[in-house]
Amino acid sequence: MSAMNIVEIDAELCNRCQYCVEVFGCPAIQRGPLELGKPGVPWIHPDLCNGNGSCIQVCPTKAIKRPNPGSFGKRPSGGSLGGDAEKEEGAV
Ligand code: SF4
Repeated sequence: MSAMNIVEIDAELCNRCQYCVEVFGCPAIQRGPLELGKPGVPWIHPDLCNGNGSCIQVCPTKAIKRPNPGSFGKRPSGGSLGGDAEKEEGAV
């Protein structure tokens, strides 16, 4: 599958339960930095996310979502870990 519509985690909605990291176990969902010694908001590795969106269903607070639901098949801008090569790709 080569879907490019990665998901994102809304830090305001995330309660840091770590269900998506520890139970769901998708390799694209990475542990976030510690916050006051406790697990913080996870993050989505854009190169590992295949965009199938199954993680959206498991989050109890609906913090995992598609940044632009109407753009399935298009990768959102800033969807890489850096580098200048993909900067022009985000113009929609
Ligand atoms: S399952 Fe949802 S609320 Fe829990 S850590 Fe993951 S994104 Fe946050």
